Amino acid sequence: MGTDKPEEKHRCPTSPQRKRKLNQQASSSHQATEDQKLINNSVADIIRSCLGPKAMLKMLLDPMGGIVLTNDGHAILREIEVSHPAAKSMIELSRTQDEEVGDGTTTVIILAGEMLAQALPQLERNIHPVVIISAFKAALKDALEIIDEISLPVDINDDEAMYQLISSSIGTKFVSRWSTLMCNLALKAVRTVTFDAGGGKKEVDIKRYARVEKVPGGEIEDSRVLDGVMVNKDITHPKMRRRIENPRIVLLDCTLEYKKGESQTNIEISKEEDWNKILQIEEEQVKLMCDSILALKPDLVITEKGVSDLAQHYLLKGNVTALRRVRKTDNNRIARATGATVVNRVDDLQESDVGTQCGLFEIEKIGDEYFTFLTKCKNPRACTILLRGPSKDILNEVDRNLADAMAVARNVMFHPRLSPGGGATEMAVAVRLGQLAKSIEGVQQWPYKAVAEAMEVIPRTLIQNSGASPVRVLTALRAKHAEGQSTWGIDGDKGSLVDMKEYGVWEPEAVKLQSIKTAIESACLLLRVDDICSAKAARQ
Ligand code: ADP
Repeated sequence: MGTDKPEEKHRCPTSPQRKRKLNQQASSSHQATEDQKLINNSVADIIRSCLGPKAMLKMLLDPMGGIVLTNDGHAILREIEVSHPAAKSMIELSRTQDEEVGDGTTTVIILAGEMLAQALPQLERNIHPVVIISAFKAALKDALEIIDEISLPVDINDDEAMYQLISSSIGTKFVSRWSTLMCNLALKAVRTVTFDAGGGKKEVDIKRYARVEKVPGGEIEDSRVLDGVMVNKDITHPKMRRRIENPRIVLLDCTLEYKKGESQTNIEISKEEDWNKILQIEEEQVKLMCDSILALKPDLVITEKGVSDLAQHYLLKGNVTALRRVRKTDNNRIARATGATVVNRVDDLQESDVGTQCGLFEIEKIGDEYFTFLTKCKNPRACTILLRGPSKDILNEVDRNLADAMAVARNVMFHPRLSPGGGATEMAVAVRLGQLAKSIEGVQQWPYKAVAEAMEVIPRTLIQNSGASPVRVLTALRAKHAEGQSTWGIDGDKGSLVDMKEYGVWEPEAVKLQSIKTAIESACLLLRVDDICSAKAARQ
């Protein structure tokens, strides 16, 4: 890598006055950056103890007085209130990471905090932020290549390998005690909603098609992935059938009530017969609607809108069970699981819109509430994950952990490569960048080396959280990597060195790549800031 222009400008000051001016400029811009560094580090410090298998939980009080018990970096930062803009931008990072890859949220904050901490000595050496940024970017490019080199491909159809991968993500979380169960749930749910979108592309939309329903009560072991969907609804009329095998299902997003005009209409009636006529027309219209539904001989009608008493009467007469006011998202999921199409005009209903893939419709009472189960679906492309557990707080944490596990499975489906965990990848990057730094000329070498040092924060934190001595273990790990053994990392329980090939903690490469990208890019962004101004409040 050659030397950049800004750096040269900085290294060859012409006159003493110019030198003084440059120093003044640099130190004023550093003031703001130093301030940010302190703040960012305190954001990183909050969640430092939440990394790895010996992570501590945080108990947060939300504004409504509820409590959140978690060790998920994103969930913690989402709840805390900060006013400094730089701290806000740090918190934003964990949100990006969560949205992009769904895991590694704690890692990214710790890494970004350390990058900024390592940038400060460079600023104190009077290296211009622009030079630091360009060195950081060069280091990022090399780091991504190194990660790709040490990662291995994985067979996504190999259950054993997938279980191991998901369990290393779950191992650091509250649900680690139910690791096998959680792996099963995550893998089954993700496989259910994965399908070929044509052209060799895969589509996995967990948020939309794999819904988690949390029902307090029972044991965590009772949690399961349904081969279909469940919605929190009961039938509209007590006499309707509560259990139907192989039901024919019609899905609607229109009301089954008398349709009123779009605009307000006033009708003046002078004779009693006219009033009766109006009522009769209303009745006829509802009957017509129900007749067009009944013509398809369905067993079950589910609508997103209302069903009037009269419509219920006609449907009941036709031996049809009805559910009303089902959420749009639930209706879409039912459509995917049962093969039905959601129709928004009863007149448009056709035989091909009827869903016939569901094996069993059943209403079940869990706790105090009634739930509709549409299960035994032949090829469900949507599912519900039913979580049971002792309390709402625990279920919420199980839900967050399961979301991470599903994200891990999804990432690997898209990008089937794994990187060694337990700080091995980060240490490999640190050692290799340290070696590469020697070939870089000029001041850029220092910030480049700083990235290498910052990467060590992950293995160091894992050692610290396990209670071992960071200096001794980290030196030994560095030595292993210097010999080229890039799969060695930290046993997060004992704080000793282990080969990840034997220990079995691997993570999706996509998560590793994304965390380092986000951390360095955000550090670069904050380094570009040289002042913080607040907008004037609007005049009254
Ligand atoms: P994140 O929110 O960033 O995923 P975690 O608390 O899940 O944070 O910690 C993930 C880190 O812990 C990764 O670097 C992973 O490699 C490491 N890790 C997970 N399990 C172990 C283990 N048993 N031993 C050592 N490190 C582990």
